[in-house]
Amino acid sequence: MKILVTGGCGFIGSHTVCELLDNGYEVVIIDNLCNSKKEVISKIETITNKKVLFYEGDVRDKELLHKIFQDNTIDGVIHFAGLKAVGESVKIPLSYYRNNIDSTLTLLEVMQESNCKNIVFSSSATVYGIQESPKYVETMERGKTSSPYGETKAMIEKILEDLYASDPTFKITILRYFNPIGAHKSGLIGENPNGIPNNLMPYILKVATHELPELTIFGNDYDTIDGTCIRDYIHVVDLAKGHIKALEHAHKSNPNIYTYNLGSGHGVSVAEIVTAFEKVNKLKLNYKFGARREGDLPEFYADPSKALKELGWKTEETLEDMCKDSYHFIIKEKGE
Ligand code: NAD
Ligand code: UDP
Repeated sequence: MKILVTGGCGFIGSHTVCELLDNGYEVVIIDNLCNSKKEVISKIETITNKKVLFYEGDVRDKELLHKIFQDNTIDGVIHFAGLKAVGESVKIPLSYYRNNIDSTLTLLEVMQESNCKNIVFSSSATVYGIQESPKYVETMERGKTSSPYGETKAMIEKILEDLYASDPTFKITILRYFNPIGAHKSGLIGENPNGIPNNLMPYILKVATHELPELTIFGNDYDTIDGTCIRDYIHVVDLAKGHIKALEHAHKSNPNIYTYNLGSGHGVSVAEIVTAFEKVNKLKLNYKFGARREGDLPEFYADPSKALKELGWKTEETLEDMCKDSYHFIIKEKGE
C-alpha cells in the first residue's frame, strides 16, 4: 500500500513515516518545510534503509496535489501538515485558518476527485476544551477551544463529518493526540524548534543543554497532587504506531468516520516530568515556579480504552523512556 503523508518531515510525521516503512508501506511525502528540514528525508532513509518519494511543496497547491495523485496510486493519506503553535495562532489567526483549513479542503477535494477515500487526520485533545471530568472520552461533545489553532482542529473535524455525511464511501479516522514528546531511539529525528519553545519538553531540552538559562514552571498553586498542571504525555513512537493501527483498522472496516484518543491514560504533573528528566539523565535542571500561563487547564488526560478495544493500540513507552530519548536526540543533534 502506498500512503501519502502530508507534513511528513515534521516531528510526528517523520516518526510515522519510519513506522510505515518498517511495516512494509510505500511512502510519498509532501511538505513545504515551513517547520522542518529537508535532511529529515535522508535521516528517515538511514533509519529504515528504505526510500521515500519527497515532493517539496504546499498542500494548498492543487496542481501539485493532482500531479502527486496522477504520478502515484495513493491508497490512503495521513494528514499532518499544519501550523501548530498555540500562542502564535493567537497573534496571527488568519495565517492559521488559511493554512490549516485551506490545506485540508484542497487535499480533500483532490482525494475525492482522485477517488482516494481513506484519510487519517491529526487532531488534538484541545478540541475537548473544558469538560466536567479531566478524563477525556470520545463520547464527549467537542468543547470550547482556547485558541485559533484549536479552533482549526475543531473546524476540520466538522468538515470531515460533513464530508462523510455527503459521501459515505469515505473512511475517515480522526486521531486526537495528547502531549507527544520523546524521540526516535536512533537519536536521528526528534523535535528541536527554532527560538524559544512554547512546549514543555523542548523547553526542558534547551535548559538541559544550557541554551536557555532556566525553566519556568507555570503555576504551582493548582488543585493537583503537587500544585503543577497535569497532562498525558505520550512517546512519539507510540503515537506513530497508533497511525499504523488506524490504517490497518480502516483497511478492514467499512467506510465510516472513526475518532480515537491517542494518549497513555495517565496524568503526569510538570514537577514529576522535571524530576524524572533529572533522574534518568543524571543532571540538574535549573527551574523556578512562576505565574500560571493564561489558558492552561489544571488537568486533562485521555481515556484511551476505545483505541485499545478497536485498534488494539496502547502506549508501551514509559515517562523515563520519553525523558531519556528526548535528551539523547538533543545531545546528538547538537553534536555534544
Ligand atoms: P510539525 O510542525 O513538526 O510538522 C508539521 C509539518 O507540516 C512540518 O514539517 C511543516 O513544514 C509542514 N507543513 C505545514 N503546513 C504545510 C502546508 N501547507 N503544506 C505542506 N507542508 C506543511 O508538527 P507536529 O508536531 O509533527 O504535528 C503534526 C500534526 O499533529 C499537526 O497537524 C499538529 O497540529 C498535530 N498535533 C500536534 C501535537 C503536538 O503537540 N506536536 C498535538 C496534537 C496535534
Ligand atoms: N509548561 C511549563 N513551562 C513551560 C512550558 C510548559 O510549566 O515553559 C507547562 C504548561 O503550563 C502545561 C504543561 O507544561 O501545564 C504542558 O505544556 P505544553 O505547552 O507542552 O502543552 P499543552 O499546554 O498544549 O498541553
